[in-house]
Amino acid sequence: MQASSPISLEFFPPRDNAARERMIRSAKELICLAPSYVSITFGAGGSTREGTADAVSIMQRLGFEAAPHLSCIGSTKQAVAAILDGYKAAGVNRVVALRGDLPSGMGVGHGELHYARDLVQFIREHSGDWFRIEVAAYPEMHPQASSATTDLDHFVDKVKAGADSAITQYFFNADAYLDFVDRVQARGVDIPIVPGIMPITTHAQLLRFSEMCGAEVPRWIRLRLAEYGDDRVAIRQFGTEVVQRLCQTLLDKGAPGLHFYTLNNADSVQAIVRGLTI
Ligand code: FAD
Repeated sequence: MQASSPISLEFFPPRDNAARERMIRSAKELICLAPSYVSITFGAGGSTREGTADAVSIMQRLGFEAAPHLSCIGSTKQAVAAILDGYKAAGVNRVVALRGDLPSGMGVGHGELHYARDLVQFIREHSGDWFRIEVAAYPEMHPQASSATTDLDHFVDKVKAGADSAITQYFFNADAYLDFVDRVQARGVDIPIVPGIMPITTHAQLLRFSEMCGAEVPRWIRLRLAEYGDDRVAIRQFGTEVVQRLCQTLLDKGAPGLHFYTLNNADSVQAIVRGLTI
């Protein structure tokens, strides 16, 4: 493995063999970026708990430092402790600690740990300093927060509970990130806040997903994407230019790294990184 770069990558657990092969192929193609670590998402309600652990061990075998995401909503402390112990035994020492979202219609209760802050606190109580803990940050505000200020209060609380660094929800407006970092630092909190970067490769899907997670797609980007219709090549080319410019601005303005939501696809990430001065 080459020396570590400021880049980290996110994958999701594959659901079948073909998807597994695709994830492995993409991960191999991205080894050349020498990511500092790769993270693996965790399905809502624990639906991919085993899938996350399997993908973590695949990534470890490929030579990556792997960080599983772990969500706490709907779980007991005992279940979370068992997952943490399993990861520790497997040599994992970094986790992304999240509240998660309750899956609709599954009849799952809130469990014993209600917010990411409770999970961070529990990880510290149970595992001490074994894990480096990443938490989520929302420069454009978490969609369920009652105000930007209370959301910031809650973010600061989870850092004080023991988080080491944060990864943001994706955004396409660098000022939203820079303003968020300023407001966090004004509270005396100085952990690395790494921008989460979403490549633009689709139109309808991007708008749908952004609506759900509260990420704003600026009007000018929406209009340009609408104009391209089904022309996937044009969408990718435009998306690469837009996201590359965003990444370069963020790095130039002091972002401590870039965390790419790869969606298990190497091409778009490679195209973006290729044009960056890191
Ligand atoms: P929290 O930090 O707990 O915040 C959730 C909401 O509760 C916010 O509105 C906050 O303001 C509010 N809040 C916090 N504390 C309190 C309190 N004490 N009292 C009242 N309100 C409070 N989801 C998955 O299911 N699996 C994944 O793998 C996954 N990975 C992600 C990775 C990243 C980088 C990001 C940004 C998100 C990810 N998500 C994932 C989505 C995430 O689970 C959702 O956004 C979820 O709704 C919030 O999780 P959180 O950890 O940010 O929650």
